[in-house]
Amino acid sequence: FEEHIKRIEQLEIAAQISSSLAHEVRNPLAAIQWSLLSLPDIQPSQQMILKSVEDELKRMDNILGDFLSLSKPSTKVKYPLFLQEILQKALDLQSQFLQKRNIQVIQKIDKTLPRVNSEENQLKQVIHNLLKNAIEAMPDGGKLEIIVDTKVCKNDNFFVCLTMKDTGIGMNQEQLTKIRQPFFTTKPNGTGLGLMVCERIIQEQGGNIEISSIEGKGTTVTVCLPAL
Ligand code: ADP
Ligand code: MG
Repeated sequence: FEEHIKRIEQLEIAAQISSSLAHEVRNPLAAIQWSLLSLPDIQPSQQMILKSVEDELKRMDNILGDFLSLSKPSTKVKYPLFLQEILQKALDLQSQFLQKRNIQVIQKIDKTLPRVNSEENQLKQVIHNLLKNAIEAMPDGGKLEIIVDTKVCKNDNFFVCLTMKDTGIGMNQEQLTKIRQPFFTTKPNGTGLGLMVCERIIQEQGGNIEISSIEGKGTTVTVCLPAL
């Protein structure tokens, strides 16, 4: 038992160190990004190098950002809220971008839905990460079907479920087995942490995430949270 406590303490210290490290690294990174912006007299031949340096810096910043939301303490206070209302806010923020990307959004929201016990910002983060993945999977536009309904599981537990169905590039079987691993990404600027962040938040709230996909056809992600 004492060994166990010691292990937990060690893990806590490791988590604290890594999150302060991430914070500390972010500041000089931002300073470098700013300095690049104020470089005088850049030759056309140097533009490409500068662009790739900027891209890599951006990638590092994305990784640190995702990493920080992963290491945030999960002690946030939860309140009863309507998932569909949080969804609406997240969609409103992205609506112009979705239009620009030629993505048609079709919403099917049940009329009467129970509340879920959750935390607004964390839920927004989950929706944001999933929306981002769907958008990135449809570079030439497509259809995004968003469904909010309820589901009863075998032990009579009631869940509120958010389903996002895109008509994007999809994934093959091998990819599907890897997507929940940290740092697995197929994108040049990806972090491979987005889904892990979602998973952590949803599991912590007693829910689960299901992902299915067909290569070349699209992906369906369903997030379920216990209904109140
Ligand atoms: P990132 O988006 O930074 O790569 P994620 O954890 O969000 O990290 O996703 C991991 C990988 O899962 C992506 O790189 C991609 O290969 C795959 N993926 C996730 N969502 C989708 C989707 N909607 N369509 C196709 N592939 C997806
Ligand atoms: Mg992502």
